[in-house]
Amino acid sequence: MKRISVFCGSSSGASQMYTDDAKRLGTQLAKEGNTLVYGGSKVGLMGTVANAALQAGGEVIGVIPRMLMEREIAHTGLTDLIIVNTMHERKAKMEELSDGFIALPGGPGTMEEFFEVYTWAQLGEHKKPIGMLNSHHYYDKLLSFFDHMIEQQFLRSEYHSMIIVETDPHQLIEKFRQYEPPILTKWINREQT
Ligand code: AMP
Repeated sequence: MKRISVFCGSSSGASQMYTDDAKRLGTQLAKEGNTLVYGGSKVGLMGTVANAALQAGGEVIGVIPRMLMEREIAHTGLTDLIIVNTMHERKAKMEELSDGFIALPGGPGTMEEFFEVYTWAQLGEHKKPIGMLNSHHYYDKLLSFFDHMIEQQFLRSEYHSMIIVETDPHQLIEKFRQYEPPILTKWINREQT
């Protein structure tokens, strides 16, 4: 049994397709015996993924800062709702609780959470898998920007390939299971690189 954090929008986006994929991911995580860890809200894709996991019989842990409990409408039907004091504590708690991290479509909040765990992985602070459910190609533009970072030598290709990108939740979870963290060389022998 693994605990997987899902970062996703507090909105549902412009297309029903994002909601459908959030449902698929929540259901699949639960069916495969994983506990969902997420931001604890009942709005947007956050609420969708949590409800799907609960309906499929899974456990769901929400982590929400006190000041967001009203604004983001805390979900009251979760297995556990952890209330923290700040956004920083929320991210630290989600990181500590989780064995892997997935981004569904979302806005700046989702990106902020995703990039923090990604940059921590790059620095070797954790060795947990990180992935994106590229629902209806939502992240294609971000993925091209990663190619641009590589071309312009601000990112090494091996760090880009740490991110598991899939459109199918089952495939994504399967790749999480098989994930082997790369041997990080970025901060070793820096002078020679
Ligand atoms: P968004 O993708 O912008 O809809 O935000 C998705 C979730 O990320 C919401 O629950 C936000 O509260 C959360 N969020 C936004 N900024 C941060 C942050 N700096 N640290 C932690 N969570 C955040």
